[in-house]
Amino acid sequence: MNKTVTVIGAGVAGLASGIRLLNAGYEVTIVERHHKVGGKMSQLEFDGYKFDLGPTIVMMPELYREIFELAGKNPDDYIPLERIDPMYSSYFDDGSTRYRATNDLVETVKMLDSFNDTDSEGFLKYLSDLYSRFNVAKDHFLQRSFRSKKEFYNPFIISQGLKLKTLNSADNLLRKYIKDDRMRQMIAFQTLYIGISPFKGPSLYTIIPMIEYVYGIWFIKGGMYSMAKGMATLFEEMGGTLRLNSEVERIVIEKGTAKGIEVDQQIHYSDFVMCNADFPYAMKHLVKEEKYKGKYTDKYIDEMDYSCSCFVMYFGMDKKYDEVIDIHNFVFSNDLDTNIDQIFTGDTIDDPSIYMYIPSKIDSSLAPEGKDGVYVLIPVSDLSTLKSKWTEETSQFYRGKAIDKISKLPGMENFESEIITEKQMTPKDFDNVFNAYNGATFGLRPTLTQSNHLRPQSTSPNCKNLYFTGSSTHPGAGVPIVLLSAKIGVNDLINDEQSKG
Ligand SMILES: Cc1cc2nc3c(=O)[nH]c(=O)nc-3n(C[C@H](O)[C@H](O)[C@H](O)COP(=O)(O)OP(=O)(O)OC[C@H]3O[C@@H](n4cnc5c(N)ncnc54)[C@H](O)[C@@H]3O)c2cc1C
Repeated sequence: MNKTVTVIGAGVAGLASGIRLLNAGYEVTIVERHHKVGGKMSQLEFDGYKFDLGPTIVMMPELYREIFELAGKNPDDYIPLERIDPMYSSYFDDGSTRYRATNDLVETVKMLDSFNDTDSEGFLKYLSDLYSRFNVAKDHFLQRSFRSKKEFYNPFIISQGLKLKTLNSADNLLRKYIKDDRMRQMIAFQTLYIGISPFKGPSLYTIIPMIEYVYGIWFIKGGMYSMAKGMATLFEEMGGTLRLNSEVERIVIEKGTAKGIEVDQQIHYSDFVMCNADFPYAMKHLVKEEKYKGKYTDKYIDEMDYSCSCFVMYFGMDKKYDEVIDIHNFVFSNDLDTNIDQIFTGDTIDDPSIYMYIPSKIDSSLAPEGKDGVYVLIPVSDLSTLKSKWTEETSQFYRGKAIDKISKLPGMENFESEIITEKQMTPKDFDNVFNAYNGATFGLRPTLTQSNHLRPQSTSPNCKNLYFTGSSTHPGAGVPIVLLSAKIGVNDLINDEQSKG
């Protein structure tokens, strides 16, 4: 008889784990508390508009495709992908200065040459430096676990680790290569994609813009949610069982071995448990007995560092903004250093940067005819860093700031009066709806002391047959990266079973 696995959570990593486990011959049930699949990659649908709830930028599409290919399917049948170029617009000086980031090297060099005579060379050196580091990370760190000290602290891995040059900050590294403040800011800002400050975060994370410039960014027809829906469809086609609206209350552990889960005070037994619920939340609330938490006691969990959060507004508009705006747009604070500082000190952000995403520009299925849906995101502090409580006034305050900034962009002067309908997700909502601990949308912050072998691994160190996957585990946050965490977790589970004979 096939061995059984219960997966807690139908986020990206839970769905990908489910598909990989079915493919390896396990019988799999995914249990999700929300009424939709996808977790942070879910969708909001209201008044004829469809909004991606969280992720919007597709990078490393080969990892998205891999999950369908491994099951012998054609990814194009589930997630039709299209490359986006120019990739995005960046606005400075209250919208009066606009740069467009493109994969066209000729155009990029032309733009950099117009800044000064050294930045083109510096930019190419930056790309080459990060490209080399990316290859090292991909081959030796991103696709494997570190389950024992020996697996990390050995001469080969340490020599590879040194090649990653993780000790300087993203900002320091960029200063070495790029003089122009704006160009540097456009690159440095992107460490916020995984919830980390460019001033404090390891320089390795400037890998993200390198991936954009070298490999491009992509759009999935129907928006990011098509990936979640596509994975759920494939999972069910392969014979998996998906239970929505079901909150797991406890991981059942008997004599040091995970035996299943408890939902509505009923125990459901399985041979293995794969937990996609956020690791710190799960350790605190689903693993009940102290002895199975190991070093992750409630106190330890509360003392860990968390990524920043996001305040997201979803606006259904009365018109289309064809003239000026791109699909992806960044509107920078006039004082980016203070803006980033305030995100990580928990102070009120006086002049926030915003990200604006309008996929209905290229996909008419996402808004009523002749109208656009506009997603606006402000990076904000996580709830453990925030110095005051997040209240309705906080939401109103940041909504006002966002609308002020948007209204200064050409063609968007009447933005507020053109809103027909709207919803929001606050850090508290990310916590309440998806159990994202501290509302930290990218999970545990990937500091040096919370990365690689020092980040929670897929295998529970204190309990047999229990595995973890998702953004707070190694290798970290972001859709492609949690897809890798699913691959690592499932491989560990299979290897453990095979080694038992
Ligand atoms: C606003 C925002 C923008 C982002 N932008 C991008 C982007 O552009 N590109 C990119 O690559 N990444 C982006 N990300 C990051 C990316 O979305 C995440 O890293 C990824 O989706 C996390 O997936 P996950 O499976 O780890 O976790 P989750 O999506 O959090 O999944 C965990 C699941 O477990 C469920 N769960 C929790 N507790 C229980 C329980 N007790 N019982 C049952 N179910 C439970 C939750 O409801 C959830 O569905 C963004 C994230 C956010 C929030």
